Amino acid sequence: MSQYDFDLFVIGAGSGGVRAARTTAGLGKKVAVAEGRFLGGTCVNIGCVPKKLFSYGSHFHEEFAQAAGFGWTVGASAFDWPTLRDNKNKEIERLNGIYHNLLVDSGVELIEGYASLKGPNEVVVGDKTYTAERILIATGSVPFMPEFPGSEYAVSSDAVFYLETFPKRSLVLGGGYIAVEFAGIFQGLGAESHLVYRGDQPLKGFDEEVRQFALDEMQKKGVQFHLNANIERIEKVDTGLKVTLTNQETLEVDLVLCATGRIPKVDGLNLEQVGVTQGKTGEVVVDEQFQSSVPSIYALGDVINRLQLTPVALAEAMTLVNNLYQPELPSKQMDYSNIPTAVFCHPNIATVGMSEETARDTFERVEIYSSAFRPMKHTLSGSDERHLMKLIVDAASRKVVGAHMVGTDAGEVMQGIAIAIKAGATKEVFDSTVGIHPTGAEEFVTMRTLTRN
Ligand code: NDP
Repeated sequence: MSQYDFDLFVIGAGSGGVRAARTTAGLGKKVAVAEGRFLGGTCVNIGCVPKKLFSYGSHFHEEFAQAAGFGWTVGASAFDWPTLRDNKNKEIERLNGIYHNLLVDSGVELIEGYASLKGPNEVVVGDKTYTAERILIATGSVPFMPEFPGSEYAVSSDAVFYLETFPKRSLVLGGGYIAVEFAGIFQGLGAESHLVYRGDQPLKGFDEEVRQFALDEMQKKGVQFHLNANIERIEKVDTGLKVTLTNQETLEVDLVLCATGRIPKVDGLNLEQVGVTQGKTGEVVVDEQFQSSVPSIYALGDVINRLQLTPVALAEAMTLVNNLYQPELPSKQMDYSNIPTAVFCHPNIATVGMSEETARDTFERVEIYSSAFRPMKHTLSGSDERHLMKLIVDAASRKVVGAHMVGTDAGEVMQGIAIAIKAGATKEVFDSTVGIHPTGAEEFVTMRTLTRN
């Protein structure tokens, strides 16, 4: 009989925490999860899932307009925000229920409330203290909100999913995933959409050609970019919010969304007192085995601030469970290379592996194959949207080291390409793969002409 109440006590029922808890419980261990807010964490409740539903919703107006070229007469259309918001809420409640059942059915004890550490093997929730052989911190992250005069009038992505009224005029501050995704969602759902970014091109770190291409396409659809600028102040006026930018431009809008990054959620955990080392952004510092400076305390997901992506948290959880609770299996190490990712702006961006710039810094010689084209659908739709596909090849090994796409369902296409790149496929393997015709994706196996090297 163990001297502890639990083998594993997980703090936070988000993507990483739930995966670690239910897999460990499935291996016959005694597991608890403490959660103070909602099951499924950011991704399910105020992140990936509702955002994707909004993104789907925001494509319809284009589809209605494009249908005419295919012979359809579409009647007057109108968008009703409460319908989308409330249908989304119902779906999220359904998912919360699924998460509840997943945990309970796998034998996890669900404890409602915010947990804090009391010692290396002790956790407090409310007025109760629990002991555990190991503790896993999977508390995720919270939006970072910059401060400037009137910043209290801005909302974060937490609130944007539940707005009472849909803005006629929106402004998003930031140039990362959330900013470009919401600028596209607002525009697609019918709002005037402004994006203010302090750099000269959003999506820092992405391939430069992809950044410019996506910017041009979003601009064509009507998103208004204000680059090399930040918000200086926001004033509430009778007709909305008056926003003054650092370049002295002024805009009047109904909603300001700050999408300025996310920081580890560590408030109230009592990390310092227990001796858990934290990094510059407050993140829990862990080693390759996700072990913190206190050997019985582990952490993964957004709270360790490596890559803030749900599938990364899931993979980290599976690595941890494998190494702690499946001694019969070989030890694993989390592989952070070639992680594919998508940005659900309009059109979507998806990418895996290196940008052209990183590849040029890494390899002596690179080959770039790039193709920008009008997708077949738009030969009749009347849309001037263009798509981009790009492959980056290390000339010495012939391996494809990066693939990028801007276009419809780019994430769906890139998932398969990511497998090929992870397997080390060469350009010749891509070239010898038979295309699926007629698709946009076949471009990835038919790009024979070198664009530049
Ligand atoms: P990001 O880190 O992607 O982007 C933050 C943006 O805010 C950057 O453009 C940054 O500028 C800017 N910024 C930061 N501080 C300030 C400031 N004080 N004033 C003005 N601008 C500022 O964060 P997001 O909030 O967009 O998203 C958080 C995380 O969530 C992402 O890292 C991503 O991993 C994840 N996510 C993933 C999605 C997906 O997979 N599709 C969707 C949404 C989120 P600069 O570029 O100059 O640093």
